[in-house]
Amino acid sequence: MTQPQSSGARTADNVMKLDSFVRGKWSGPGEPAAEIHSAVTGDVVAVTTGSDLDMREILAYGRAVGGKHLGKLTFHQRAGLLKALADYLTKHKDRLYKLSFHAGATRTDAVIDVDGGIGTLLAYAGKGRRELPNSKFLLDGNVEGLSKGGAFAGQHIVTPLHGVAVHINAFNFPCWGMLEKLAPALLAGVPVVTKPATVTSYVAYELVRIITESGVLPEGALQFIVGSTGDLLDHLTCQDVVSFTGSADTSQKLQRHPVIAREAVRFIAERDSLNAAILAPDAVPGSPEFDLFVKEVAKEMTVKAGQKCTAIRRALVPSAQLDAVITALRDRLAKVTIGNPENDKVRMGPLVGLGQRSDVLAHVAKLRAEAELVAGDPGNFALLDADAKRGAFVPPLLLHCVKPLAATAVHEIEAFGPVSTVMGYDDLDQAIALTNRGGGSLVASIYTHDVPAATELAFGIGSFHGRVAIIDRDCASEHTGHGSPMPQMVHGGPGRAGGGEELGGVRSLQHYMQRTALQGSPAMLSGVTGRWFKGSPMLEGDLHPFRYHYDDLEIGRTLVSKSRQITLDDIEHFAHFTGDTFYAHMDEEATKGHPFFPGRVAHGYLLLSFAAGLFVDPDYGPVLANYGLDSLRFVKPVQPGEQIQVRLTAKEKMPRNKQYGEVRWDVEITTGTGETAATYELLTMNAMRG
Ligand code: NAP
Repeated sequence: MTQPQSSGARTADNVMKLDSFVRGKWSGPGEPAAEIHSAVTGDVVAVTTGSDLDMREILAYGRAVGGKHLGKLTFHQRAGLLKALADYLTKHKDRLYKLSFHAGATRTDAVIDVDGGIGTLLAYAGKGRRELPNSKFLLDGNVEGLSKGGAFAGQHIVTPLHGVAVHINAFNFPCWGMLEKLAPALLAGVPVVTKPATVTSYVAYELVRIITESGVLPEGALQFIVGSTGDLLDHLTCQDVVSFTGSADTSQKLQRHPVIAREAVRFIAERDSLNAAILAPDAVPGSPEFDLFVKEVAKEMTVKAGQKCTAIRRALVPSAQLDAVITALRDRLAKVTIGNPENDKVRMGPLVGLGQRSDVLAHVAKLRAEAELVAGDPGNFALLDADAKRGAFVPPLLLHCVKPLAATAVHEIEAFGPVSTVMGYDDLDQAIALTNRGGGSLVASIYTHDVPAATELAFGIGSFHGRVAIIDRDCASEHTGHGSPMPQMVHGGPGRAGGGEELGGVRSLQHYMQRTALQGSPAMLSGVTGRWFKGSPMLEGDLHPFRYHYDDLEIGRTLVSKSRQITLDDIEHFAHFTGDTFYAHMDEEATKGHPFFPGRVAHGYLLLSFAAGLFVDPDYGPVLANYGLDSLRFVKPVQPGEQIQVRLTAKEKMPRNKQYGEVRWDVEITTGTGETAATYELLTMNAMRG
């Protein structure tokens, strides 16, 4: 991406005029469309500007230009882009912190959003390098034989879609929300059109400005639409993906779009969620787990003023502990300083805007039909350095539902603010039933040091949740928190939470890729996928396979070694030399009636060592190092007097850098009767011809 000139600089009165970044350039501001107000002061911070964007062209450009550029790169090269982008953003993140204050975020809230987003880019960059091949497609599973004679087989391949990833984001995390979706899509090789929620779009806008200034991403890899998406959904195809984060209402509306239904457009939904925290019976007052529970519930209510999809909305406690929990939470919440998030003493800022405050208070009113307010008063609370009439302030509001089994609203209404409801349970079955009344949630946390209780709860609620965190004294100082989605782990939940799985390590790339069953002859499959497998052709010749440089080594290049006999002396020598005098190698009597050993047998490691002696080419050459074995299996024991022989075949190659690449060799040790004694994959680093 070159460095396009943004027209979105602040105007004289310091109000940002937001435009879109489409088809490689900033669209230029049109007529003011919507004013965006500071959550703290109510002043206008930014205006979105209407422009007649051609959504069909935007999608077509993304597919043709972004798709083409990303498609030329391997997973490792795309991982490199994510890393470079994260590094650049780190240098410029202060610009994002500054704007986040207007959205009501304290410095801590902004760090979660900004640094959390950058951390997700870095996590995917690392995973891309370590866990994905340096190629443009993936192989899924092993070759499956499909015919009696072995002439027809199948292999699943996974390739990037030829479409665009349309990311529609919620308001609460304008940076993290954009970056956590961007990372897996770009790593998969699919260009992105991202649309932020309007109310915090000025923060997302600044983020995209920094990204475009970085020049890191290839042209067309990212487009940004501020304001309405117009008729964009009308132009989607089966190769596009919509990844939506927001309310259940909007999600349902978009999912019902006729084009999404007709074209079977993939739709990933991350929606609202009535997440629970469960205090187990062993976690009585005075225990570390009781304190951890109270701390976490209070934290989840107040971080981001409770505007987190993962926040604890329902706190389940043994009935006997209700009073103790309510008292402890009331005390803790009373210490939270509310006010201007720019003030260092403030722990909780306002909601994102006055509209959001009205929504939250309306939802609390409905909850109060089933639950009593036991902490906080929306009409009377202290504010630091802020004006209650101008900002969207709401204090932490704790409710207590006396009859949770009979209640409905407390399990269904998400008040997206600093609001949580405490409810009692009588036994673990009841705790499980109440938790699952959320109808599918992103996360639940369990506070216990009792393994049987944790087991019962975790398996009782597992299928209703995308993530379950068990928190106790052993992980107290290091746990990442009830509410923090980790890029390595699943983020998304079933049912009401939307059924999506945005994050979860490299498995989230699958949203942007298609799995295809590729069928053909072994030779054809091996040639097309670049992976040799048993049954596909072997190439044998006079030159030892270790004499080939990485570039010249063909997949299927094979050495079949000469044979070697294993003697009892070999076994004795190996046993005493290594200290491995296990009875199966040393004591004929002990193996009588043994289910696996017909008598004394050679050590498996002796077979491996002799195999290396049989296949290795000792002279200095292109093989730089042996760096390990994968998938080792000792299939059949070898007895003294038997012959062994080795087949070594180049199975797969993966470039590492300009100097060398990794070669995966398929190795099979057979006995004199042709039976397989051991199989494994040997990994070597081979020099490039250079
Ligand atoms: P929202 O009102 O549903 O809006 C979400 C996004 O959808 C915004 O970008 C919005 O844009 C856009 N949108 C609305 N109508 C649209 C349409 N007809 N076509 C295209 N886009 C449309 O939700 P929100 O208030 O921003 O977010 C709060 C909700 O999100 C909460 O319920 C929370 O639980 C949920 N959430 C879930 C997760 C998760 O990972 N599960 C994460 C964060 C938040 P405009 O702003 O321009 O209307």
